[in-house]
Amino acid sequence: MAKRDYYEVLGIAKNANADEIKKSFRNTARKLHPDNKDSGDEAAFKELAEAYEVLSDEKKRAQYDRYGHAGVQGATRGFDNVDFSSFAGFGIDDIIDMFFGGGMRSNARRGGPEAGANLKYDLQVEFLEAVFGCEKKITIRRLEDCEPCSGSGAQPGTTVTPCTTCAGMGQVQQVMNSWFGQSVRVIECPSCQGTGQKIEKPCKDCHGEGQQRKARDFDVKIPAGIEPGARMRLTSGGDKGRRGGPFGDLYVIIHVREDKTFVRDGETIHIRQPISFSMAGLGGEMLVPSVDGKRPLRIPAGIQSGTTLVMRDLGVPRFNSPVGKRGDQIVHVIVDTPRKPSDEERALLQQLATVRGENLDLTKEERDAWEAEQEKLAANGKEAKAPVEKSSKKGAKAKAGKSDEQVKEESILDKLGDFFRPKNGEHDDK
Ligand SMILES: [Zn+2]
Ligand SMILES: [Zn+2]
Repeated sequence: MAKRDYYEVLGIAKNANADEIKKSFRNTARKLHPDNKDSGDEAAFKELAEAYEVLSDEKKRAQYDRYGHAGVQGATRGFDNVDFSSFAGFGIDDIIDMFFGGGMRSNARRGGPEAGANLKYDLQVEFLEAVFGCEKKITIRRLEDCEPCSGSGAQPGTTVTPCTTCAGMGQVQQVMNSWFGQSVRVIECPSCQGTGQKIEKPCKDCHGEGQQRKARDFDVKIPAGIEPGARMRLTSGGDKGRRGGPFGDLYVIIHVREDKTFVRDGETIHIRQPISFSMAGLGGEMLVPSVDGKRPLRIPAGIQSGTTLVMRDLGVPRFNSPVGKRGDQIVHVIVDTPRKPSDEERALLQQLATVRGENLDLTKEERDAWEAEQEKLAANGKEAKAPVEKSSKKGAKAKAGKSDEQVKEESILDKLGDFFRPKNGEHDDK
């Protein structure tokens, strides 16, 4: 069988750099991995491993570029005898380590600098602070180089000599026997923990660690309209890397306290506004809360409980909007029926009912007709049932066919629930 071109196998250009080769190998290897029931492919995986073995090695690659497959004959170990199924359960990185030795994963642990760890900080802000943005000072404790020893870990004035175990390399080779034969694995030197150095006298301040945890203040500028749960990155805000490595990053997670009045849904703010019985009937104007303070809102006459009114541009500023665009405020109007009407109020309501020709009780005829109907039903062998109110029947039906929008709306209303319950006398008609 004619051998395929290695570049073609890896799906890369002839001038691909080491990173591109590695990346392409990882991606394709993941696909062909035996753990993938659909795309796992033993022959293709071995072909890929062989191509990678050659092209990832500068010398072998140069040979291959000049003489083709003939140039690297015998230079690859050949993967034909490898039991493909034994890869199952191993990640790609493990397999790379097994084949190509440790240290493939990254160049850390070679006694050289290591990047510092990223840190996380949970920052709680108030509702309005998230809406309009704010600045916060936070204090974190992070690793930094020890000042007296400048991060070396050696007591100032004492000498540092190369580690004798690893000759200052920070790593040693370890021969491993495994199912595909012998392989050499590179591990961190156990004598010097990868530093490559032997410290004669450890620094008193950091006990030879070269680093110490220190409290540092950071100013965090939170932009207007930030979403709860957002993650902000402060570059180089994390731990200092060991042995002169760069700082890691600091991630600030924004947590937003809930508000009693406002419920936020992206750029939209919802409030629940109780209005009086008279206001609902007659209409009028009233001041309602907004994130900008109280604002007048016109209530149309004859408004029904549950109606929503939109107050434009009183919502959350659009995140990162240069033109200062804002969302809207949605007012959920709830008619607050008089709870304990006074005698005078009762008289007025009674008068209203009379004017509208409303019957507030069942008439004798209505009751008699209903009872007669129940008796007829019972006689027909059907169970007499309590009358089902028309409105609740309708409600149940509507609930069954709820749209997503309705469900969302309801959850917002649930959140607004506490606010709605009027406090004693707060929305009194008088
Ligand atoms: Zn060593
Ligand atoms: Zn020190």
